[in-house]
Amino acid sequence: MKKPIVFGGGRFDRASHLRSDAKWLQEKLADPSSRFLPLYELKALIDLPGNPSVDWRGAGDVRTFIDAGATFIFLGIADFACHFAIDVSAIEDPKNPPVADWGKFIDVRSIAPQLSPGEAGALAQARSMIDWHNRHGFCAVCGSPTRSQEAGYSRICENPDCKATHFPRTDPVAIMMVTRGDKCLLGQGINFPSDFYSCLAGFIEPGETIEQGVRREVLEESNIKVGEVRYHQSQPWPFPSSLMIGCFAEALSEEITVDKTELGDARWFTRNEVRGMLEQSVKSTGLRMGGPIALAHQLAKAWVE
Ligand SMILES: [Zn+2]
Repeated sequence: MKKPIVFGGGRFDRASHLRSDAKWLQEKLADPSSRFLPLYELKALIDLPGNPSVDWRGAGDVRTFIDAGATFIFLGIADFACHFAIDVSAIEDPKNPPVADWGKFIDVRSIAPQLSPGEAGALAQARSMIDWHNRHGFCAVCGSPTRSQEAGYSRICENPDCKATHFPRTDPVAIMMVTRGDKCLLGQGINFPSDFYSCLAGFIEPGETIEQGVRREVLEESNIKVGEVRYHQSQPWPFPSSLMIGCFAEALSEEITVDKTELGDARWFTRNEVRGMLEQSVKSTGLRMGGPIALAHQLAKAWVE
């Protein structure tokens, strides 16, 4: 087993068979052993001194939010306790929360690499789900209001003539290390700093396999033809709800034509150059890649090794 990537170490038993048991849910929402992860405008409550960790709160601390109809999600069971995420964006001043000893609300992307794999996984699940609820207050079929059900895992339209059920979405994104012999293809997004390169990537479109998506994106962005595609590793990416699908792709051609609407540059790099970029050793190449939080980094590392 590979060491989990950031956001990929979620360890809850999601216990989906319990989500529609309303009596069980009401009991667990009030149970003193239940743990709650408060999110304020998608920032997570973190206990900062020493090693940062999620500032899980007890049922009493979040009761007023639940009673006021705040969005909550049943994350799952761990250590014999039910864990929930709750949207507390109704707090007037997040720096002065209603409970005196609360930690600080911190941006999920910046804090996740410092948390345990399980807690970073909880943040990925909580952030994607709360964000989905915030964006889906109305039915996509008839425009009527919707409400959360199944402990937060779907929303139902309140129009009795419609009653459409809506489910949280996950958007697949292929990210690929394109290789040819001892070289690999990296690109520079048009908004990247001029010394920063990464793997090519793009959304898989409806009606496409992962392999087709990889071949299309690489061809569109660089005009390189790709043959074999091999799956390597995936990563939940909760900004807002992507699933990054990391692949190795074998190039069948070498001459690059960059699509200037998507990339500032794309070129071939040797293994030694990529090794230097991963170490952020700007001296060796003058160039760099994203840090270990990025799946591109893990793909490049696997290829170099
Ligand atoms: Zn409807």
